[in-house]
Amino acid sequence: MALNTAMMSTKPEMDLTQPPFKSYPAWVIEKLSPLAVEKIQAVHDWVETECVPAEAIMKAQLAKNRWETPQLMKQLRQKAKARGLFNLFLPKSFKESPGLTNLEYSCCAEIMGRVYWAAQTMNCHAPETGNIELLAKYCNDKQKKQWLEPLMNGDFSSAYSMTEPDVASSDATQISLDISKSSDGKHYIINGRKLYGNAIWNPAMKLYILMGCSDPTNPNAHRRHSTLLVPADTPGLTMTRNLTILGYDHAPEGHGEYFYDNVKIPVENVILGEGRAFEIAQGRLGPGRIHHCMRLIGQAERAYEYALIRCTDPRKKPRGRLIGSFDSQIERLASMRLEIDAMRLVVLNAAATMDIHGNKSGKYVIAQSKILVPDTAAKIIDECMQIYGGQGLTQHTPLPEMWTYARFVRVADGPDAAHRHQVGRGELRGADVVRQRHKRYREIARRLEKELGMEEEMRNEVNWEYLDEEVKKAGAKL
Ligand SMILES: Cc1cc2nc3c(=O)[nH]c(=O)nc-3n(C[C@H](O)[C@H](O)[C@H](O)COP(=O)(O)OP(=O)(O)OC[C@H]3O[C@@H](n4cnc5c(N)ncnc54)[C@H](O)[C@@H]3O)c2cc1C
Repeated sequence: MALNTAMMSTKPEMDLTQPPFKSYPAWVIEKLSPLAVEKIQAVHDWVETECVPAEAIMKAQLAKNRWETPQLMKQLRQKAKARGLFNLFLPKSFKESPGLTNLEYSCCAEIMGRVYWAAQTMNCHAPETGNIELLAKYCNDKQKKQWLEPLMNGDFSSAYSMTEPDVASSDATQISLDISKSSDGKHYIINGRKLYGNAIWNPAMKLYILMGCSDPTNPNAHRRHSTLLVPADTPGLTMTRNLTILGYDHAPEGHGEYFYDNVKIPVENVILGEGRAFEIAQGRLGPGRIHHCMRLIGQAERAYEYALIRCTDPRKKPRGRLIGSFDSQIERLASMRLEIDAMRLVVLNAAATMDIHGNKSGKYVIAQSKILVPDTAAKIIDECMQIYGGQGLTQHTPLPEMWTYARFVRVADGPDAAHRHQVGRGELRGADVVRQRHKRYREIARRLEKELGMEEEMRNEVNWEYLDEEVKKAGAKL
């Protein structure tokens, strides 16, 4: 069915039965601007022709030099930029934005997710997206010129450096890397350890956006920390090793383990001012926090395609039957289809909520995505590996890397347990309203019992007044 173009006269024509528009619900299609339709189609064409077919070649180039960005990646980035596909993630509200809403970008990001590195060809990969958003939101003009512009232009790469080995880093108030002022007040001196920021071994890495503790005795725990711009070539900053994730080195970006040993940077390199890091970290937790979730839907779709191919492969017939002819597999495919579509709805809803009500109001829907998507995607990819058989666990398919990606997103950008905690506490805070409503049901029931002469018969029903008293006595604080 071709979309009624009379209704959407300025939009390029879309065939809703075909990818990439086929998977999106009508309420999303309705909201897409002409620019978004054009970009979604262009991203789709880009990934299908330039990224999926090049996966093995990219791997082969990378194998020759693991800590240098492969030539193919450099070429693809230039080409994608020339096609107007760079930085699509930056929401419309920024003056530097290419003009998409979060909802529109969500559609693009799902497509990018089909190949692990496709987002990078379009400068839409982590941690660049969060970092660009942070720099655009909080830096002064001079800092923007020096760091934001080249980053958006794809001239170098950056890292976000918050997590530490010795504290529970999901609670940002615990970050303890020491930031002190030099005696002349012109420099910050940094000492401490950090984990995970992208590897300094890649010559493209030029900037660390660092969160540390500059005022440990401030009575306000949210004013103790500062965010600094640390150029990668600053003396005293060393990477001791690359951290592998479930055995993958994720080169040439990697995840470093860092020492800051009397690292000295000018005071002009502080973002927004001393003691503002918490505010910045909170601000960084907007749409960027669900970019992984958006892409994981693309990964799950791709994994599902491997399952479909295997289910219908005429060479692979256990007991003389196609794998897809077994009822158990047919049911599995149906369940996975529904789960992928459900994940998509959750993520699209989160993106739309942020567009309509702002990032702060998106707190619950962001948590909802972060809890549901990585876990569900990992289960789906796992099931696809199982359907694919032994080869599904080898480099014959991208499935093991996909599973690893879904698994690590359960921790990266904040563990899902922390989001559950936040959602669960919010629910419990609403318990009193629920209890009062149930009390009213009981009051109405009492009146009805009286009218019907059933008081004696119903005497043992729950006494809500008693429950109220008990809750008050316990003084439950959530
Ligand atoms: C692949 C990968 C890439 C990463 N990239 C970066 C990066 O670029 N920059 C960076 O700074 N960090 C990065 N990280 C680190 C990541 O953000 C942290 O690991 C994460 O925030 C958790 O912090 P932590 O490891 O100190 O664990 P902790 O904070 O100690 O948490 C450990 C566990 O405690 C439990 N827990 C925590 N809070 C709660 C709660 N409220 N309720 C119930 N249980 C809870 C959870 O099970 C949690 O997993 C990356 C991590 C991975 C795996």
